[in-house]
Amino acid sequence: MKIPKHPTLIRRFLQARQKQLQAKSPVLAASLVTSRRACGNPNCRCARGQKHLGHYLTWKVKAKTHTVYVPVDLIPQVKQWTQEHRRLKQLVHQITQLSLALIQTHVTAQRRQRARS
Ligand SMILES: [Zn+2]
Repeated sequence: MKIPKHPTLIRRFLQARQKQLQAKSPVLAASLVTSRRACGNPNCRCARGQKHLGHYLTWKVKAKTHTVYVPVDLIPQVKQWTQEHRRLKQLVHQITQLSLALIQTHVTAQRRQRARS
């Protein structure tokens, strides 16, 4: 995204993004990964080295990684929910840049006015 110079344009860019800033599904700030793990049952084949291949969601809270198992039938939905988070995160990033640009153009506009008078 190229940030426009004129405040009117910046506001137009902002409004367009504000409209998109609405969750279309649940939102998951986590990563979907596949990994091999033991289930914990001592009688299971995984206890003898043949670990289960499964999908997991991982996310961090205060530098600590948390993990949750995702059942196979939920994977398409979970994938969509993490994508929705990525989309919203990018939007928030763009809105932040545009809001900052708005503050900056305000400062330059005031300076220009002061220089005139
Ligand atoms: Zn097992």
